[in-house]
Amino acid sequence: MASSVLTDLPGTVEAANPYVTAQRQFDQAAAILQLDPGLRAVLREVRREFTVNFPVRMDNGSIRVFTGYRIQHNLTRGPAKGGIRYHPQVSLDEVKALSMWMTWKCAVTNLPYGGAKGGVICDPGQLSMQELENLTRRYASEISILIGPESDIPAPDVNTNQQTMAWIMDTISMEKGYSIPATVTGKPLSIGGSEGRPAATGRGVMVVTMEACKRLGWEPQQCSVAIQGFGNVGSVSADLLQGQGFKVVAVSDVYGGIYNPDGLDIPAVLAHHAATGRVGGFAGAREEISNSALLELPVTILIPAALENQFTMQNAARIQAKLVVEAANGPTTPEADDIFHQRGIVVVPDILANAGGVTVSYFEWVQDLQSFFWEEEEINARLTRIMELAYRQVDELAQQHRTTLRMGAYCLAVKRVADATAVRGIYP
Ligand code: NAD
Repeated sequence: MASSVLTDLPGTVEAANPYVTAQRQFDQAAAILQLDPGLRAVLREVRREFTVNFPVRMDNGSIRVFTGYRIQHNLTRGPAKGGIRYHPQVSLDEVKALSMWMTWKCAVTNLPYGGAKGGVICDPGQLSMQELENLTRRYASEISILIGPESDIPAPDVNTNQQTMAWIMDTISMEKGYSIPATVTGKPLSIGGSEGRPAATGRGVMVVTMEACKRLGWEPQQCSVAIQGFGNVGSVSADLLQGQGFKVVAVSDVYGGIYNPDGLDIPAVLAHHAATGRVGGFAGAREEISNSALLELPVTILIPAALENQFTMQNAARIQAKLVVEAANGPTTPEADDIFHQRGIVVVPDILANAGGVTVSYFEWVQDLQSFFWEEEEINARLTRIMELAYRQVDELAQQHRTTLRMGAYCLAVKRVADATAVRGIYP
C-alpha cells in the first residue's frame, strides 16, 4: 500500500469536536422548527454506540488489536445507512457525528433510511493488502450483529472502496451460508453493485453546484473551482464539473496540491494520479501549493472533498470563494459558518451536497433486493431528479425561514424525522 495517510490537516490544529458541531447544528434547526423538547432530546443523541476491539494477524505473524466503531444514530424511517472509514484519527465522536449527518442526509433526499457510520482507527497506508483484508473481515464479523439488509447497510467512505465492500459482503455471506449482496452498497458490479455508484457522490456534487450557479446567475464558463481531496468524491467532482464547462484551477490530495490559474486538464491529472498515486508532480501545473493555501485561492467555487474542520475561525475570514460546496462531511465549523454567512459566502451544506452517494447506494440496495438491475442512464437520471428536488426544497425552506441553506436542509430533514418519530410514538 501507499505511504502513511497522516498529514498536517489544517483542521487538526483547532480539532473542533465534530459531534459538538453536529449537535449545535441540530439545536439551531430545532429552535427554528420550535421542536417539542422531548423529540429534541431523542434526536440530538445517537441511538446505539458499538465499540469493538479485535485482533488481526499481521504479515510478520504478530497479532495487533484494533479499535472500531459502528454507530446508529436513528432508525425511525428505515434501516440505518452509512459508510465505513479507515483513518488514524477516527474517534467515537467523529463516527457519532457522521452517523447523525447520515440521518439528516437520507431525510433531505427522502430516502427510507436512518443514519449510521462506522470507522476503524488505523493507518491503511501502513498495512499490506493481506492485513487490510484480515482487518476488514474481522471488523465485519464483529459488527455483524448489527449490519444486514434490513437493519444497517454499510458503504465506502474515506480509505475504503469497492474491494473493502466485497470483503464485508463475503464475510457476512459466509457466516450466514448464502450470498447477501444487499448487506453493503458500493460493491463491485460483479457481485451486485450498481452502475453509476462509484461516480454518484461526485455526480451529485456536480448537480448541486449547477443548481447553486443557476440561482446565483452564474455561467459555468465564468467560474473557477478549487477542490481539496482527489479521492472518490473529489476526483469525480473535478472531472464532471470540467465536463460542464467549469474551470478547475486547483486540486489536492493528502500530500499537497497543484494550481494553474488557466485551468488544469483534469483527465490528464487523473492519469497522472493513477500512475503516481498523487496529484503533485503534474506537468501541467503552474505551481505546487499546500492544502491550506488551496483553500484561500482567489476562486469562485471551493469544494472541500477530504475531511472535517477545514474551515475554522482561523481561516474563514481569508476565504475568497463566493460559493462553498461541501462534498466532504463536516468541513465547516459553526464559527466559520457564521463568518461565511456574514460575508455573504453561500454554502451548500454536506447533508445536501454529498447526498448523491447514498442516493445511488439506495438504488443499489433496491436492485439487490429485487435482483433486477437498471441501466446507468436510468440511474443518473433518477439521481439528478432527486438532487434537484432536494435542492429546490432546501432553498425554499431557507428563504421561508430567512436562513442559510444549511439550516434550510436541517429544517427539511429534522422535520421529516421528527414527524416520523411522533407518529410512531414511544415504545412501549
Ligand atoms: P477517499 O479516501 O476516496 O479520498 C480522500 C481524499 O482526501 C484523498 O485524495 C486523500 O489524499 C485526501 N486527503 C486526505 N487528507 C487530506 C488532507 N488533509 N488534505 C487534503 N486532502 C486530503 O475518500 P472519499 O470517499 O472521496 O471521501 C471524501 C469525503 O467525502 C469525506 O468527507 C467523506 O465522508 C465524504 N463522502 C464520501 C462519500 C462516498 O461516496 N465516498 C459520500 C458522501 C460523503
